[in-house]
Amino acid sequence: MKVYLRELELPFRHPFTISKGTKTTQPDLLVGLEWKGKWGFGEAPAISYYHTTTAGMAETLSQKKAQVESFAMTSPERFWHFLHHLFPNDPFLVCALDIAGWDLHGKLLNKSLHQIWGLDPSKIPMTDYTIGIDTPDRMVEKMIEKPWPIYKVKVGTEGDIERIVALRKHTDAVIRVDANAGWTLDEAQVKIPMLKDLGIELIEQPLAKDDWEGMKILYRTSPLPLYADESCVSESDVERCAGHFHGINIKLTKCSGLTPAKRMINHARNLGLKIMLGCMNESTIGTAAMVQLSPLVDHLDADGPLLLSVDLGTGLHYQEGKISMPEGNGLGVQLNSGLFDLN
Ligand code: MG
Repeated sequence: MKVYLRELELPFRHPFTISKGTKTTQPDLLVGLEWKGKWGFGEAPAISYYHTTTAGMAETLSQKKAQVESFAMTSPERFWHFLHHLFPNDPFLVCALDIAGWDLHGKLLNKSLHQIWGLDPSKIPMTDYTIGIDTPDRMVEKMIEKPWPIYKVKVGTEGDIERIVALRKHTDAVIRVDANAGWTLDEAQVKIPMLKDLGIELIEQPLAKDDWEGMKILYRTSPLPLYADESCVSESDVERCAGHFHGINIKLTKCSGLTPAKRMINHARNLGLKIMLGCMNESTIGTAAMVQLSPLVDHLDADGPLLLSVDLGTGLHYQEGKISMPEGNGLGVQLNSGLFDLN
């Protein structure tokens, strides 16, 4: 097997602001696996608050590339275990390689991933469209520019309620909010009932990721469902979310790929937790991986390709929240030409 990698900077359509800061580009690592004349692709965006950089991932992979290339690709699950032990501190890198392993596996079997997993494409949830923090007028403009049935609105700073009031004046769409750990318990207890009155669907990560005591109180009193994102990073966090949150936001990057994400979905269901599958501004390659898995979840946040002005691949189609499952084997999407020399 041959391993290829490329570091990229993908520009956003609009500067993207959440409670942790503003970005104009998304650094991204693209990986390719070539075996028996077939290619599998995967990607992982680098996220500063998870302490990942594309340069770091690329260097780590380059150091152990020969070991990855020597792996006999029998099953994607075995490949993930191998990667998990080879790169124990790099879930984002493992994620990119795990997605590429599944894509390659599907292409070798001439099947799409949802076929391999026995999932029904008609069960793909509608995806939300994210609106970052800005002035109320700019947020309204961004919303009107993109008519959509479900918006995810970033909150977690002063003026949250004024912004949602402004948006609500212009839409009856479903609105879910993501505080990205930006509130204190007191703030959350004041703001959540107001957001309930504004018809908000759910709240993502209201408090700091380690504030389990605060979450215990909020879980008992909140009139809206609470979803863990920063508090639910990997498989070992799922158990603790029960009794502190009503649901979890699983992201392929933070949990290290499709293989562990499938296990987390099973675990969360057994605990009675709702499940969102969320993105970290992946382009079409990483988003297609989420879409293939999404018939298993309740909510989908897979708008990365819509937020970026440059994409690594093609083949996903969005129509007002509805994503059509791409035709084709593996992930079902094509890499944009020129990123790897395919000869
Ligand atoms: Mg979030």
